[in-house]
Amino acid sequence: MEPKQHHVVCFPAPAQGHINPMTNLAKLLHSKGFLITFVHTEFNFDQQAISRGQDSPFIHGINGFYFETIPDGLPKDNKRGAKEHPDLCRAMASGEEPKNALRSLLRKLLASSDKPPITSVILDAQLNFAFEVVKEFDIRVFPFHTASACAVLGYLHYNELVNKGLFPLSGKNVNNGILDTPVDWIPGLFKGAKLKHLPSFIRSDEDEMMFINYNIVSAENAVDSRTLILNTFDDLEYNALQQIKSKIPNLVTIGPLPLLCDQQPQIQQFRSNLFTEDSNCLNWLDQRSPKSVIYVNYGSLATLTYDQLTEFAWGLANSNQYFLWIIREDLVNGETRVLSKEFMDEIKERGMIARWCRQETVVKHPSIAVFLTHCGWNSTLESVGEGIPVICWPFFADQSTNCAYAFEEWGIGMEIGDEDGDVKRTRVEIVVREMMEGEIGEKIRVRALELKNMARIATRFGGSSCNSFEELVKWLTLGVSCD
Ligand code: UDP
Repeated sequence: MEPKQHHVVCFPAPAQGHINPMTNLAKLLHSKGFLITFVHTEFNFDQQAISRGQDSPFIHGINGFYFETIPDGLPKDNKRGAKEHPDLCRAMASGEEPKNALRSLLRKLLASSDKPPITSVILDAQLNFAFEVVKEFDIRVFPFHTASACAVLGYLHYNELVNKGLFPLSGKNVNNGILDTPVDWIPGLFKGAKLKHLPSFIRSDEDEMMFINYNIVSAENAVDSRTLILNTFDDLEYNALQQIKSKIPNLVTIGPLPLLCDQQPQIQQFRSNLFTEDSNCLNWLDQRSPKSVIYVNYGSLATLTYDQLTEFAWGLANSNQYFLWIIREDLVNGETRVLSKEFMDEIKERGMIARWCRQETVVKHPSIAVFLTHCGWNSTLESVGEGIPVICWPFFADQSTNCAYAFEEWGIGMEIGDEDGDVKRTRVEIVVREMMEGEIGEKIRVRALELKNMARIATRFGGSSCNSFEELVKWLTLGVSCD
């Protein structure tokens, strides 16, 4: 049977950092002839229509790549911004509306006479409610965890942490230095890993047990299905991957996905940003010399206090370097104050500020020297793929894990937070200067280029990620059992 006959449903969790890698994977499969139904929440679909424009192929779909939507279970007037993200997680985790809608959608797709029936669902590993629904049908599920392997290894041990009585950690415990407890009993983590390096939900209190529980359940789902897709590459996270493999034998490691997409000439070029991209950023970067710009972006969900924003601002200004700084509309928590005129005057010759950019293109730009990032996994890996060293300011979830790896294990980054996890302008200035001009910075830059080379080898024909993708295609196409 031709691969075209195979119809795969791709369903990401409704957040930018999940939608982008799932879109890349869906586009790769489409380029191999798979028919794709991509499921969005209604809100995100509308959001993309606004940011991409009504004429975008994203809206209408293209030959063999279709979009479907389900409600997210939140009331219409919920803003669904960074602050409301926990509401969204709760609504998707426990609401009946998304469940019923997904069930109806799968029924419709299975009964469809104008498209081949679906054979597999590639499901965001953190959408536990969707696992329950898909299990009701005779369809194979391939969980896709969009975090790093080192973070997934942490999630796989959340249960044991609960059993050991190590969390949930109340605020009191966190302040008692418990986060410095070594976790040497989790094989595969880097030497010297501590509790604070595990995905941050362990810092939750009793009220937030939901975040711990859904990660425990999602890890169990992946173990049960014996299969897991990860956006990483073998040489980057070898030890963590080996350990995950001992629990989940069918590991598919296809990262960095943007590089794997670059290898496919016939891939569709549409993008998946929920926010409107400011293309002036790229024009501004075109005016800059090679390796002269610090790129600053905290992803789609991290927030800052106004004081932190000010410290970053003056640290960047005082470093005297060129910088492109993305300040999302809801980046600053509950504050309407804007950056001072004094600051704007100071940086007007060397700073560019925008609300959102096309990051995959920005990190490829020859003018970018360093990425000051919140260490979301996509941002981290996009940076690795382009050989850009990172300055780390982790916010939540797997970001502290990724930050620790960038700094301790891969040697491609420096941390910017102080002992209390806060940021000071002097530290920003010092770290930026070191990364741009210093001796330690030089070593880090060399190491970042080594990883870039490894990432390129992995995604080229015959490389580990390329081979792993071909294996996934085989499983999806031939109905070959993963085992
Ligand atoms: N991104 C982008 N433009 C921006 C900020 C982010 O295109 O201005 C993309 C970025 O390339 C990445 C995703 O959004 O693919 C963010 O995912 P990540 O895992 O880095 O962080 P999250 O938003 O999930 O915290």
